[in-house]
Amino acid sequence: MALIVQKFGGTSVGSLERIENAARRVAQAKKRGHDIVVVSSAMAGTTDRLISLAKEVQPFPNPRELDMLLATGEQQAIALFAMTLQRMGVKAVSLCGWQVPVITDDVHTKARIKEIHTRKLKELLSKGYIPIVAGFQGVTKEGEITTLGRGGSDTSAVALAAALKADFCEIYTDVDGIYTADPRIVPNARKLEKIAYEEMLELASLGAKVMQIRSVEFGSKYGVRIHVRSSFSEEEGSWIVPEEEIMEKIAVRGITSTDKEVQFTIVKVPDKPGIAAKIFKALGDAHIAVDMIVQTVSVNGYTDMSFTVSENDAPLAKEILEKVAKEIGAEKVLMDPDVSKVSVVGLGMRSAYGVAGKMFDVLAKHNINIKAISTSEIRISCLIARKYTELAVRALHEAFIENDKVNFVGDK
Ligand code: ADP
Ligand code: ASP
Ligand code: MG
Repeated sequence: MALIVQKFGGTSVGSLERIENAARRVAQAKKRGHDIVVVSSAMAGTTDRLISLAKEVQPFPNPRELDMLLATGEQQAIALFAMTLQRMGVKAVSLCGWQVPVITDDVHTKARIKEIHTRKLKELLSKGYIPIVAGFQGVTKEGEITTLGRGGSDTSAVALAAALKADFCEIYTDVDGIYTADPRIVPNARKLEKIAYEEMLELASLGAKVMQIRSVEFGSKYGVRIHVRSSFSEEEGSWIVPEEEIMEKIAVRGITSTDKEVQFTIVKVPDKPGIAAKIFKALGDAHIAVDMIVQTVSVNGYTDMSFTVSENDAPLAKEILEKVAKEIGAEKVLMDPDVSKVSVVGLGMRSAYGVAGKMFDVLAKHNINIKAISTSEIRISCLIARKYTELAVRALHEAFIENDKVNFVGDK
């Protein structure tokens, strides 16, 4: 008998029929003798609808109130889920984040989980109940309701699996696994049997929304085995596992893109020690993450400094940067929203050669200009004009995955 956390995403609970389909799956697993904890997202479209309602009231809604509103989406879904199981004769109880409780910090709309209390869940399990937990939400020590950022139910599920020492965590979604690229963009994308936490972490942070980044961080830190699969078929999905379990360290495991970032350029920044620290500290203090930093060569004591931030953070970043630019005596702040970042990711890149050159060559062959580059040990990202996103992803997929027989892995 295993303890399994089963998470159902928005599409998988998108209608009463779909909730019934999900509930049947849960009931079957229970019948086989397993202990099940369910984590549910809001019904598909609900969170988007709530956000647009809030934005009609206020373009930048108060984050505390926004969390109060968004948490209702998951609350609806868990109640309907529990009712459906009860109608099937299965013992189930729905729980909001605060009832578990899932304790978070107080950064509204992107809170981080600090503690998970398992007493109540274990008690319910021991009495034969299936707890149906609201994903995406938590509560601060002071009792304020928080949410974990878009896609946060993945994180709720993997964190609960870690806290409960579950045998594994199943992520039920609308694709039947993790693919070498978003199958909506690349029809020839291939399903991966296994992917390492590190690779999935890079793919998730670079746009593959199939898993929220923090869920993969939790998985990696606590060794939670994660099975991403479809709620509409019985087929085996993809497993996210430790690196040691991946035999084949291919150079490029996957290609991804994100158009959810904007590029800022601070023009004519005085080239003095401490200036970069001032700019990035101000953004960091406002919980704004930065990527793709490029500093041009100093001319007459001035440089231009470019970087990207998430589009959600852009209005606040703009406000902060205009203030800092004035303080440091820079000329102006430019914002370019028409950019996107395409990335190639793979563990084998550590010992491969030629990947960057090949990537730049593919983009050049399609006349796509590279605005900025950033790399890690296992990925290369290029910032390009947004209109070329799909073209670039398809071309890179073709070059690195469809046509790549050699895969470049070898001694440096
Ligand atoms: P859920 O609502 O179940 O959480 P999401 O919409 O958040 O589902 O994530 C699933 C989606 O992720 C898929 O429909 C797919 O378009 C997208 N996706 C992006 N990159 C990948 C990838 N490499 N493999 C599989 N799906 C991906
Ligand atoms: N409902 C939330 C969202 O749409 C959380 C989730 O689905 O994981 O982002
Ligand atoms: Mg999701």
